[in-house]
Amino acid sequence: MAILSSLRLERPTLSFEFFPPKNDKGSEELLDTVHELGKLDPAFVSVTYGAGGTTQERTREVVQRIISETCVPTIPHLTCIGHTEGEMTEILDGYAEDNVGTILALRGDPPRDQPNYDRSQDRFRYASDLVNFIKKHAHPFEIGVAGFPEGHPATQNRLIEMDHFKAKVDAGADYICTQLFFDNHDFFDYRERCLITGIDLPIVAGIMPITTLSGMKRMADLAAGSRFPATLLKTLAEAGTQAEAIRQAGIEYATAQCQELIDGGVSGLHLYTLNKSSATRQIASELTF
Ligand SMILES: Cc1cc2nc3c(=O)[nH]c(=O)nc-3n(C[C@H](O)[C@H](O)[C@H](O)COP(=O)(O)OP(=O)(O)OC[C@H]3O[C@@H](n4cnc5c(N)ncnc54)[C@H](O)[C@@H]3O)c2cc1C
Repeated sequence: MAILSSLRLERPTLSFEFFPPKNDKGSEELLDTVHELGKLDPAFVSVTYGAGGTTQERTREVVQRIISETCVPTIPHLTCIGHTEGEMTEILDGYAEDNVGTILALRGDPPRDQPNYDRSQDRFRYASDLVNFIKKHAHPFEIGVAGFPEGHPATQNRLIEMDHFKAKVDAGADYICTQLFFDNHDFFDYRERCLITGIDLPIVAGIMPITTLSGMKRMADLAAGSRFPATLLKTLAEAGTQAEAIRQAGIEYATAQCQELIDGGVSGLHLYTLNKSSATRQIASELTF
């Protein structure tokens, strides 16, 4: 199933991100979540690859289950770091067999337990190498790539970063999905910079509602470099110490963020769900398209 046509429509799309659960119970719960969120008519859902310690094989298993048990178009993430050409061909052949239409092509990060990992030996050094490789596959995959409204931490020179990004897009990307961000100014500025650079693809904005303070601290660690604007911190501080009040404040902040993006003509909103449906459903129910 391909998704690009829906991202080209005038109405912004909704989409949701999941990670592969570590056990069967988690998989059953995830399927319930997909069924629940499927009622919101998402353009697609996506499943991460090897991120946060999950195993890579489980991505395909989860993608296969979502495709066979729901009608929701499903996009696997695929990172190329550490993969050989043969492994990558095998993975792509598998997805072609599963009738997957779209892949989110990423570089990935070196394993946390290997601080001296030498990427110079990798067959695929950057996501652009993977995009090039997928383009040559017999199956006509649509390809998404990652975008970073706040900049990617590994390239401090933001002009050079846009050059690298343009090379990745020119290799054959069809759409962009962004890293999470909490200040819409960063997104609008990034979209403008893309246009100035000659990149005119649908950009799906990554939104992560904060539902707990501990979750926010974990996120600050994982999405290193993310900015937590004072307005967000103030909103959460004013919510006090009660878990439910903090959750509602985080959801209201994310809802306002999404509405402003819709009003600003965003192509799509991609919600990082953490495999749960309730915060996402609450946000979606408040939005006016
Ligand atoms: C929407 C989204 C989904 C993600 N899903 C996953 C996931 O499922 N699993 C996972 O492990 N990670 C995931 N990530 C994290 C991602 O793998 C990391 O952020 C990674 O550091 C960058 O990946 P990339 O595809 O943007 O890499 P690239 O586009 O290769 O860029 C990485 C860095 O290299 C620089 N660069 C690019 N080309 C060159 C060049 N020719 N010379 C020098 N420097 C260059 C770029 O400027 C950038 O700083 C996701 C990120 C996003 C935004």
